[in-house]
Amino acid sequence: MNVLGIETSCDETSVAIISDNELKTNLISSQDFHKDFGGVVPELSSRAHLQILMPLIKNALSKSNISLDKIDLITATAGPGLIGALLVGLTFAKSLAYSLKKPFIPVNHIEGHIFSGFLMTEKPEFPYLCLVVSGGHTLLLIVKSDTDIQKLGTTIDDAAGEAFDKVSKLIGLGYPGGPKIQSIAESYQSDLINFPIAQCKKEFDFSFSGLKTAVLRHIQKNYGSSEQIPAGDLPMIAASFQASVVKALVNNVRKAIERFHVSSISLVGGVAANKLLGNELELLAHKFNKKLVIPSNEFCGDNAAMIAYRGLKLFNSGLKYNLDYNAYPGLSDNTFIKPFLQ
Ligand code: AMP
Ligand code: MG
Repeated sequence: MNVLGIETSCDETSVAIISDNELKTNLISSQDFHKDFGGVVPELSSRAHLQILMPLIKNALSKSNISLDKIDLITATAGPGLIGALLVGLTFAKSLAYSLKKPFIPVNHIEGHIFSGFLMTEKPEFPYLCLVVSGGHTLLLIVKSDTDIQKLGTTIDDAAGEAFDKVSKLIGLGYPGGPKIQSIAESYQSDLINFPIAQCKKEFDFSFSGLKTAVLRHIQKNYGSSEQIPAGDLPMIAASFQASVVKALVNNVRKAIERFHVSSISLVGGVAANKLLGNELELLAHKFNKKLVIPSNEFCGDNAAMIAYRGLKLFNSGLKYNLDYNAYPGLSDNTFIKPFLQ
C-alpha cells in the first residue's frame, strides 16, 4: 500500500510517501520569505504552494522510487489553516485521486499533530495526554484511542506559538519568534523577571495575551519603547517570557496527570521544538513515571508525514469520502474526528 500525503495549511509545503506502513520520504519546503513581512502573508503563501507542490511531489516519488501510478491512496490536509493555502493542496489531491481513480482521504491538521508521536520509534501508549502547541493552537487532550479524543483545555486568546511570535516582534527579534527567543534566552543564566501566569476560569485552559501585555508594560516602564531596550537586556526579557510560557503549559500538564489516568505524555506542534519545554516535561514525566514522546523536529512542525499517517489510519478504519469534501479554514477544536465521519 503506497500512500501520498500532502500538507499545505500554512507556510510549509510538504509531501510524504508511506509505503507498506513505512515512511519513505517526508519533504518539507518552508516559505522563509514571510519573515520580511513579520508574519505569514496568506496570498503569497498560496502562490508559493502552487509553484512548489508539483516539483515536490515529483521529487518525493523519485526519492521513494515509486511511480505515480503505484500510489494507492491520496491524503491531504483539509483544515484548519489558511483557506487559499489549504485549497491548493486539497484541490491538487482531489484532482489526482480523480484522474488516477484512487481513494482520497481529507485529514484534520490538528489530528495529524496529535498522532505525530507514532512516527517515532518510541510511540505513545493509549491513553495519553497530548499537549498540542503550535502557531495557531494550544490544546490539552486525552487521547484514548485512534478515534476517541477528549479535550481538556484550550487557549482562550493567543496560541503559545503566536505569543512567542508576537513578543519576538515586540522586542525586535523578528519572525518566527520561537527559535529566536529560545536562542537568545539560552545565554541568560541569572534572575528572571516575574511575568504573570494567567489563571483561567476553566482549570485546564490557557491564556497568553496578558503575558504579552506584561512584557509590553515592562518595556514601557523600564525603557520607554522597544527601540530603547539595550541589547544586553534582551536575553533577560526573552528568558523570562519563555519561562512563563513554559510554566503555564507545564502547570496544566501536571494537574492533568494528577487528575486522570494516562500512560504517556506526548508534546506535539511547532513549539514542541522548544528545549526548555521539553526538559521541563521530561522532569515531570520522570517524576510521575510516564513515558514522554516528543517527535523529532522534522515531525514537530507542519509536515506531510503526519497527514499521510493519519489518512492511512482513517482509510484502514473504513472511512470513505467523495471528492465533494471541501477545505475548512476554521475546523473547530471541538470537531475532532466528527467532520470526517459524515
Ligand atoms: P506550527 O504552527 O506547528 O507550524 O509551528 C510554528 C510555531 O512554532 C511558530 O509560532 C514558532 O514561533 C513556534 N516555534 C518553532 N520553534 C520553536 C521553539 N524552539 N520554541 C518556541 N516556539 C517555537
Ligand atoms: Mg501545525
